[in-house]
Amino acid sequence: MTTDGPDKTRADGTSVQAAPSPESHYSTHIVLTTYPGQSGIDPVPLNWGAKDAKSRGPVVVSRSGPLLKRRNAMGAHGGSYSIYNALAIAAGDLPPDFRPDFKNSEPTFNFPWQPAWADKDKIVAMDPYGHDIVNQFRDELNAGWDIRPTMAVTRANMKLAEIGEAVRDGKLDVDGSIVVDSSGEVRVTKVAVEPVWYLPGVADRFGVSEPILRRTLFEHTGGSYPELITRPDLKIFLPPIGGLTVYIFGPPERVSDENVKLALRIHDECNGSDVFQSDICTCRPYLAFGIREAIREAQNGGSGVVIYFRKEGRALGEVIKYLVYNARKRGGDTADKYFTRTENIAGVRDMRFQALMPDILHWLGIKKIDRMLSMSNMKHDAIVQSGIKILERVPIPEDMIPDDSRVEIDAKINAGYFTTGRQYTMEELAEVKGRGWEKWEDITH
Ligand SMILES: [Zn+2]
Repeated sequence: MTTDGPDKTRADGTSVQAAPSPESHYSTHIVLTTYPGQSGIDPVPLNWGAKDAKSRGPVVVSRSGPLLKRRNAMGAHGGSYSIYNALAIAAGDLPPDFRPDFKNSEPTFNFPWQPAWADKDKIVAMDPYGHDIVNQFRDELNAGWDIRPTMAVTRANMKLAEIGEAVRDGKLDVDGSIVVDSSGEVRVTKVAVEPVWYLPGVADRFGVSEPILRRTLFEHTGGSYPELITRPDLKIFLPPIGGLTVYIFGPPERVSDENVKLALRIHDECNGSDVFQSDICTCRPYLAFGIREAIREAQNGGSGVVIYFRKEGRALGEVIKYLVYNARKRGGDTADKYFTRTENIAGVRDMRFQALMPDILHWLGIKKIDRMLSMSNMKHDAIVQSGIKILERVPIPEDMIPDDSRVEIDAKINAGYFTTGRQYTMEELAEVKGRGWEKWEDITH
């Protein structure tokens, strides 16, 4: 039960009524884990791959009150932000039993049901009904259950310098509905997705057994989710990782229309380039090119989609990435050694594992991609193996590649990334060098 707490002074000096202290909310008996068959354990039925949300059942992950015994999923909502949520409760800014008011938060576009939503093999890494929780589980919400959307659909205007330039250079037209004006303002439909894993399906994608997957997730998150081990009957895990965002240009109903062309880019986060425009890689230029071509396809009566995955630095993170940058710059930054530098530090060259990526394409109802704006074989192969055709692959245009990023792009092409241009030999790659550090600072080597 919520009881009013005392007044509390915020960091900015303003006074607010504090949420009740967490101590008064939690019982002194801490339940570290649960077991099947334990007294009162009665998970809400959940049939992954059911034909609609109601027969599938809600994903219940909360440990709040009686839900501790009724939950049917492990982990927490919000991906990596689940930790901030916990901090807000610890700090007294958020009551432990807070229930959101979802009024007016429903999707701005109702994506049509797709057969893949009811296919437990096609979608294993997101909740296909995660956008429609409020509508489908109104009774449970009204009864005070803590269940939450894991997807949200909205629309917005966006402005990207490169799109403004493309309009000025005559490479894109102002059409008044997608590209709104000559400054390059663009209308977009956006879908945010948090990860929801159906563990048997995830294990299948990687060709491993479910017990091994559960054991590694348990061991290598510091033992954070003991029910991975003690509750083999719970099949759903909300992992503490980033999700993805879909950007749709043009009418969203065209995305699943097989009769119109689709241009698509799958983009994995690279904050240094995407936001801060570091020139060591081709990420932002390729992203801008992808958005431009997606808009162009939508303007031609087709559809354009860019999907942005929070998989910073090939899902190795920025600390590993910068360590690799240093090793590259100090060790002679040539394209032939590009992947070795990453393998030395991370153990692998890439942890993005595209096996789970196609889920969102199936959720959107995409059956074929006319223009795939990517050179990555891992992305291409994952999509094609999942049953979606790719008709054309479009590399980044040469004039959009920053000089210092030649090391990256030529190494990738040599490693088998798709190109319509030339593939360099290892000998030639040794000659492709990045800019050194000597020009602007005095870091000791
Ligand atoms: Zn990058």
